[in-house]
Amino acid sequence: MKKLMAANWKMYKTRAEAKATAEDLLTKIEGKLPADREVVIAAPYTALETVGSVLAGNADCHLSAENLYPKAEGAFTGEISPAMLKDVGCVYSLAGHSERRAIIGETDELVGDKVAFGLENGLSMILCIGETIDERKAGEVQKVIDEQLEAGLKNVASDFAPETVVVAYEPVWAIGTGEVAGEGEIVEAHGFVREKLKKLFPEKANEIRILYGGSVKPANCAQIIALDNVDGVLVGGASLDAESFSQIALA
Ligand code: PGA
Repeated sequence: MKKLMAANWKMYKTRAEAKATAEDLLTKIEGKLPADREVVIAAPYTALETVGSVLAGNADCHLSAENLYPKAEGAFTGEISPAMLKDVGCVYSLAGHSERRAIIGETDELVGDKVAFGLENGLSMILCIGETIDERKAGEVQKVIDEQLEAGLKNVASDFAPETVVVAYEPVWAIGTGEVAGEGEIVEAHGFVREKLKKLFPEKANEIRILYGGSVKPANCAQIIALDNVDGVLVGGASLDAESFSQIALA
């Protein structure tokens, strides 16, 4: 199972900026990426084609969307389908990032539809889950993980290839705050995720990658990816700079 080192550029970078960062990143990691690593860049829609052409032909670096709409086509103004994403080179898409849940109001149900429809249409899907600080204080971490995984994976057809489903555990209070979760907190949460996956997909659970996200930096990445049940990272702020993300990818 390859460790997945994923960048999430959110709503940053024009095409020119995206091209420069992707090219710089490739120069820094080319020939150095361990054989058991895969790099993914999730870029804004407008930069996907540009970044896709930089990554084209690179077997270990793949393009991802940050979101998709779970319909093939139709009257869905402002939305983008999986086929459109594949057309510009996407191999992955995120679904259910906490910013989309909190700011755009995405429900667990919609996130579940996105995961299932993306998979059915040939994308690998990175389902993002994680509790808020209030939920953690109320002792509800396990409950939130359970509910978000249950709903997020509910409609997934049982014949999926395990490497095409990825879960990113991102405690909301650790995203963009500089406050990375403690090692004990990460190990505990990832353990819950693995146990829940075993209940949902007993045959495949051990091959489904579980990423940690939330204030991952070059200085803390190596310790995090060495933890039990941590199969990679999803990185926001520290992925915007090629030097910083190259250090993470190679950590
Ligand atoms: P961060 O964001 O690395 O800036 O905390 C992570 C994410 O939102 O995926």
